[in-house]
Amino acid sequence: MILGALEAGGTKMVCAVGKEDGTILCTETFPTLTPEETLPQLIRFFAGKNVESVGIGSFGPVDLDLASPTYGSITTTPKLAWQHTPIASRFRDALGVPVGFDTDVNGAAYGEALLGAGRGCSSLLYVTVGTGIGGGVILEGKPMHGMLHCELGHILLRPEADDPSPDGFCPFHKGCLEGLASGPALEKRWGRPGRDLGPDHPAWDLEARYLAQMCADVIVTLSPQKIILGGGVMHQDQLFPLIRRYTKEYLNGYIQTPEVTGGMEDYIVSPGLGDRAGITGALLLAKDALK
Ligand code: ZN
Repeated sequence: MILGALEAGGTKMVCAVGKEDGTILCTETFPTLTPEETLPQLIRFFAGKNVESVGIGSFGPVDLDLASPTYGSITTTPKLAWQHTPIASRFRDALGVPVGFDTDVNGAAYGEALLGAGRGCSSLLYVTVGTGIGGGVILEGKPMHGMLHCELGHILLRPEADDPSPDGFCPFHKGCLEGLASGPALEKRWGRPGRDLGPDHPAWDLEARYLAQMCADVIVTLSPQKIILGGGVMHQDQLFPLIRRYTKEYLNGYIQTPEVTGGMEDYIVSPGLGDRAGITGALLLAKDALK
């Protein structure tokens, strides 16, 4: 079965052709310009490759309501050129194949649940910490939607007392998770990008506490069987032990499951698929679109 996959990001579009077991046969990356410039390039990539369906994991917000006339669209994104772009139907109409559609992070969560670090879990949370922060949720084996979809990057947090920029930088909420802990927030707070800060810089302890607040909040709300943290900022391996320690501290013994009473080494983990979680998940969305 030959499937198409698109990981549609705000800065780049990753296209791949692969198989239902997650094998990727070929891939190509395009910069995200305007829909008029970029969509024809992406459609040309898939044309002639005999894909039976295409799966799209997209930046958002997106419309995932199957009963909505704008299902499959990018909706109110701050990337103005992409507002109200019916991305799924553009591919369906141009290629004449079924199209599976979800958020980029739900796609990555789905990839991790079936083929990555979350194998065997029926519920999990996947979080990417990078230019933005996004969360994808798997519940009962499927991506969770609900009223809209998870917007975990914008949960409101308690500022840490030693934060030199406790107000945060989100244009909508200032001190939400993304406003306090995204890559750009780190850079604005410390005057240098995270990759230029040494592993012992106090930035990482503070970063870990904000991510631990999120983990503790999600443990008491969604109760996922695993929390997977990916994205560029999480390439800083020193964060994981700190996040586990502070999550435990914030829960303060209230939750007593085997997953969280130990050191949480198997509970708060990095993606098993590495940076391929999103594109692999999009392949799985393509497979589901054929059902
Ligand atoms: Zn926000």
